[in-house]
Amino acid sequence: MGTKLKDLFKDSRLIAQYILQRRVQAGFYVVDYDPAYRAHAKHIETFLDGHRPATTLVSVPALASPDIKFEIEAYAALRQEPLRKVDVVVVGAGLSGLKAAWEVQKAGFSCIVAEARGRVGGRTYSVDPLEDGRKVDLGGAWINDTNQSEIYKLVQTLGLELIVQKTDGDVIYEDFDGDLSRTGYGLTPDTLVEANAKEMINFITEDIEQACHELNIHDSKAGAAEELDKMTLLEWAQTKTNSKSALAVVQLWTRAMMGIEPSGVSAFFFLKYMKSGGGPARMRSDLKHGGQHLRFLEGSQSVSLRLADLLHADTVMLNSPVFRIKQSSDGVLVSTARGEILCKDVIVSVQTILYNSITFDPSLPSSKPELAKHGVQSFSFKHVILYSEPWWRKAGLSGAFVSFNRPISTSRDTSNDRNGQYSLTGFANGDLGRRSSKYTKAERTKAILDHIERVFGLYV
Ligand SMILES: Cc1cc2nc3c(=O)[nH]c(=O)nc-3n(C[C@H](O)[C@H](O)[C@H](O)COP(=O)(O)OP(=O)(O)OC[C@H]3O[C@@H](n4cnc5c(N)ncnc54)[C@H](O)[C@@H]3O)c2cc1C
Repeated sequence: MGTKLKDLFKDSRLIAQYILQRRVQAGFYVVDYDPAYRAHAKHIETFLDGHRPATTLVSVPALASPDIKFEIEAYAALRQEPLRKVDVVVVGAGLSGLKAAWEVQKAGFSCIVAEARGRVGGRTYSVDPLEDGRKVDLGGAWINDTNQSEIYKLVQTLGLELIVQKTDGDVIYEDFDGDLSRTGYGLTPDTLVEANAKEMINFITEDIEQACHELNIHDSKAGAAEELDKMTLLEWAQTKTNSKSALAVVQLWTRAMMGIEPSGVSAFFFLKYMKSGGGPARMRSDLKHGGQHLRFLEGSQSVSLRLADLLHADTVMLNSPVFRIKQSSDGVLVSTARGEILCKDVIVSVQTILYNSITFDPSLPSSKPELAKHGVQSFSFKHVILYSEPWWRKAGLSGAFVSFNRPISTSRDTSNDRNGQYSLTGFANGDLGRRSSKYTKAERTKAILDHIERVFGLYV
């Protein structure tokens, strides 16, 4: 009896989800409702757009904020598709999920990709802000043709065009106190305010490069790896130097490349991550072999859009978050918000940190949910500012800047000269981005534009 009750309780989340999905109900909360003055009616009609679900109108003395006089609470229903049967279900329609689905279908197996969002591409997302076909990337944007050889091969196979990142011109450095200096691409300025700043930045840069190349990334217990995995990158860097500038550079790296703070990542994981990309020097670089060497003419999401087109019709199910994967003697039952799929195998391509949003039955080996639970969610706040011309180039500047100040920590020229799109793209990642996210869009935009003006104003 005890076990049955426990099982019922375990399933209650599932039952609740089904009930919500099959009903449409709307509630209207109106402050001091007056039947003789039906000002809300027009707005409700617009909102319902011809639908007639069950509705309830509640007169309330006040709502959460004194200026809000009217609130709509709506439960929308998603149509449930009949049970589908395939060989393989792929969870997630990002780059990895779509590539996996393509391989599965090429090998002659049937496959469905269940995607939570209303679009493919996951962390690659290309938008057309001026609606004139000139795309900009809000997610992943850069690749290269050497140490990202798999994606490069895929791009060639799909026939997508790449453009080379511009690096002509100087880079601006903004110091802690807002002092500005400009220097050639890839160099450290002599004029930073802290004594020996340049030496210490060069020292930590070379030291980390060397540690990275000496590390056995395949064994977290071999050599120095075990010790490095017990300390954060910040703690490790502090054993090397107490230079404020050198530590700020380390912070710039984790923020720009991982969206986290040096105190939020183990020294081992950071070095492993860097080494996988060819070492920190390459990961930071915009030149050949560098992490930021090539971009997509039509935006990076074009890879996923093209892959999705190559899949059989009705392969990708959008708006279908998977919430349960249950294995039984009949196969694997994958439950999504839009219906169930019975299959033989499942490929889960979601970020590890999201594993705990899916109920696995039987459960995954404990190390996996533990990893998901303790994983740190990175934070990337990327912005793209469009201009009618690349004004920074006339002043001999590359458009790139690095700032120890805030709010933008790094910026680059992300223009596409071939289609006359000129832009600067910046990042406020890690804690810096988290802080920015608390402001309104208008406040963030103003802070970004003010920062760009402050950094370039001296030279342009
Ligand atoms: C701002 C930013 C900039 C970046 N810049 C670069 C760069 O310049 N170069 C580079 O190489 N990389 C970059 N990256 C990283 C790169 O974008 C990712 O590594 C890559 O896109 C990951 O692809 P993926 O398919 O593995 O995962 P994702 O793209 O995360 O795809 C997973 C998919 O699963 C879906 N999903 C999640 N949970 C569920 C569920 N329960 N049910 C169904 N679907 C679910 C998600 O909606 C998503 O579509 C950047 C990332 C960001 C965010």
